[in-house]
Amino acid sequence: MSEINHLFTNEIVCPFCGYEFVDSWEYGDNYEDELGLIECNECGKQFYTNKDVSITYCTYKADYGTCKHCKKDNVVIQDYHSTIGRYDSLCIKCGNLEKQRLQKNYINCICNKKDY
Ligand SMILES: [Zn+2]
Ligand SMILES: [Zn+2]
Repeated sequence: MSEINHLFTNEIVCPFCGYEFVDSWEYGDNYEDELGLIECNECGKQFYTNKDVSITYCTYKADYGTCKHCKKDNVVIQDYHSTIGRYDSLCIKCGNLEKQRLQKNYINCICNKKDY
């Protein structure tokens, strides 16, 4: 396998295929406050990009796997850990639904406690 230079690059570089985003700054601004998933124009895979202060970019391969919930194969899966709950290995869509469910549960829990 050939080495792909995707760390501290002047443009966002896809860690999967090495595709260089010539308009990186547009993406960089959108994802300034958090690690954002970007889809490669070339190979269509998604990866995280993290803009650092000196305006170079680091990219990290998103985890591809099978969603525990909907069993979709070869999709981006994420783990989520927080005070309201946690989940492992869910696709983005199921993850968002689960997050909403956890939030609802958490709020219900607080409300029930107030209910004597
Ligand atoms: Zn690519
Ligand atoms: Zn899913």
